[in-house]
Amino acid sequence: MIPAPFDYVRADSYDAAAAALGEHGDEAKLLAGGQSLLPLMKLRLATPAVVVDVSRARDLAYVRDDGGVLAIGALTRHCDVARSADVTAHAPLLAHAAGSVGDPQVRHRGTVGGSVAHADPSADIPTALLALGASYVVRGPGGTREVSAADFSTGFLETVLAPDELLVEIRVPSARGEAWGYEKFTRRAIDWATVAVAVQKRGGETSVALANMGSTVLRAAATEAALASGAGAADAAAHADEGTEPAADVTASAEFRRHLARVLTKRALVAAGR
Ligand SMILES: Cc1cc2nc3c(=O)[nH]c(=O)nc-3n(C[C@H](O)[C@H](O)[C@H](O)COP(=O)(O)OP(=O)(O)OC[C@H]3O[C@@H](n4cnc5c(N)ncnc54)[C@H](O)[C@@H]3O)c2cc1C
Repeated sequence: MIPAPFDYVRADSYDAAAAALGEHGDEAKLLAGGQSLLPLMKLRLATPAVVVDVSRARDLAYVRDDGGVLAIGALTRHCDVARSADVTAHAPLLAHAAGSVGDPQVRHRGTVGGSVAHADPSADIPTALLALGASYVVRGPGGTREVSAADFSTGFLETVLAPDELLVEIRVPSARGEAWGYEKFTRRAIDWATVAVAVQKRGGETSVALANMGSTVLRAAATEAALASGAGAADAAAHADEGTEPAADVTASAEFRRHLARVLTKRALVAAGR
């Protein structure tokens, strides 16, 4: 449970972090809240030669109403997202999901950008952001690009981020006044989701995102298609596990996860008024 030796660099701004990544390349890992990286390092599943501590980079910690789009700095902590008046007004689904991450200690250290970049398929934040149709602003030596939440994670703990790129901002189109639902099943109160479902209505469309039903967070495409053709919540939710490949592990069998996906999707759709 002791990490392999590493060098420590403190970077208190985007520029300092970019310079450190430029110098150390794929030998380096960013440390944001440390709530996922440090456990991996202690298990020696991650052995970076250099840890670049960006936890005090305040230029990347903010919530702004950017004219119909909510702009959230990558280093904004879960607790600040959960209690932000702007997030509550424009994306209440995200505020709720942030408030359901782990326990208060985790929410006061962990960051939304760290959760997105870590790309754990059971994480609450990326699931809510997928349903909300968010996009992620990525910056590196080659410039800045914006990647949709749907295209960001490429596999279990894998993303499109290059080793010298930072996730700098999360952009969420405002869903002010729109209905939503979030259902998370856990064995114990503060656990990661065995399965979670995020539902976001926007105009006549309904997005449904699933946590822990595959190697990435994913959309319940068959449920969305059924809703678009006029199905009610129960009928649409019956398709929630179609096209998914949930894992079997100590918390649940794959079949139980499929069952949870259907049940939780129905509940989340009902909560969203479908
Ligand atoms: C006990 C416990 C319970 C938890 N329960 C939950 C839960 O119920 N739901 C849930 O969703 N999460 C849960 N988490 C995880 C938590 O949400 C973490 O905060 C999150 O996964 C990672 O965020 P972080 O800021 O701590 O990132 P870190 O651990 O610092 O970093 C994670 C990874 O992302 C990279 N990274 C971080 N920031 C950036 C960036 N801006 N640009 C590029 N790469 C970056 C790092 O290099 C690292 O590879 C739990 C964690 C713990 C310890």
